[in-house]
Amino acid sequence: MKVTEHLSRADGKTLFSFEVLPPRKGENIQNLFGNIEPLMEFKPPFIDVTYHREEYVYRKHPNGFLEKKTVRKRPGTVGICAAIKNRFDVDTVPHLTCGGFSKEETENALIDLHFLGIDNVLALRGDPIKTEPHFVPEPDGHAYASDLIEQITCMNHGRYLDEEQEDTFPTNFCIGTAGYPEKHFEAPNHGADLRYLKQKIDRGADYIVTQMFFDNEQFFNFEKRCRAAGITVPIIPGLKPFTAKSQLTMLPRTFYLNIPDELVDSIQACPDNTAVRQVGIEWCINQSRELMAHGVPCLHYYSMGKSESIRRVAAALF
Ligand code: FAD
Repeated sequence: MKVTEHLSRADGKTLFSFEVLPPRKGENIQNLFGNIEPLMEFKPPFIDVTYHREEYVYRKHPNGFLEKKTVRKRPGTVGICAAIKNRFDVDTVPHLTCGGFSKEETENALIDLHFLGIDNVLALRGDPIKTEPHFVPEPDGHAYASDLIEQITCMNHGRYLDEEQEDTFPTNFCIGTAGYPEKHFEAPNHGADLRYLKQKIDRGADYIVTQMFFDNEQFFNFEKRCRAAGITVPIIPGLKPFTAKSQLTMLPRTFYLNIPDELVDSIQACPDNTAVRQVGIEWCINQSRELMAHGVPCLHYYSMGKSESIRRVAAALF
């Protein structure tokens, strides 16, 4: 079932959902199942599975030459979606990026998803890979998420890349897109970012999931800006409980977000990460309660591979 159908069937009740990462290459999927299992009692209608494109590494040979090698550390998003769907009888949302895909590879990935009965996809551009200073699309790939969304919308209308192909079946994907309450780091300002977000909706995105934030005012202002710009689709806030002191620098560096003074002070005062986890859980519960009271359709939690804090947040709320 589509994410948007779940949202409208909830009849005003806030739903619970979360995101998982594919296991690192060579790891057993049982660890992932073990992380998902404790969260199933809170009845998530859908689970997101992230996509991780290849990275380049340089291996030094005995003769001194450097060899550029491509590695994918977390493959398997499509297979993992199908495995989670079968194991837990829950809808899955594979993340699909422009990065690393030509248009034809995108089409083929979408056909696989369609055959597997997966009705949802979160369409993203993807970040630049570590060895590149800015995002570089594949030679025949998409430069922006809005272009990827347009391709998926075309397939939903039965229009494939080969326009001469006859008797094509229309797919029926519900398309999610990313939104940034604190602005995407490359956008010159909030207004420009919003115009591109609107373009993604106009091209067929059905709902927005936000980047994580720790100050609800950021979300409320973002939502106001979206509504004023004529964006009417559901907006799902993304949240993450703090789990380690090191995240005070890692999260702003990775996700370009601000952490409120009160939270920074509480975390800095913690003697160890057990205390940080407790602070993180309490902060996340308070954030979630306020967002629920505001009437958000769903709360989406970023697990980043660990589910215990999310289980404790969910136990207090759902
Ligand atoms: P876009 O919407 O294409 O925007 C990228 C930038 O370009 C923005 O600054 C935007 O303002 C600007 N822009 C957009 N359109 C245009 C245009 N036509 N002309 C000029 N500028 C334009 N990354 C992964 O690799 N795998 C994942 O699984 C993943 N999951 C994510 C889940 C969520 C909920 C979020 C919020 C992010 C996720 N990301 C993931 C990270 C995401 O790929 C990066 O944030 C990426 O840098 C931008 O992706 P986007 O889809 O928002 O890009």
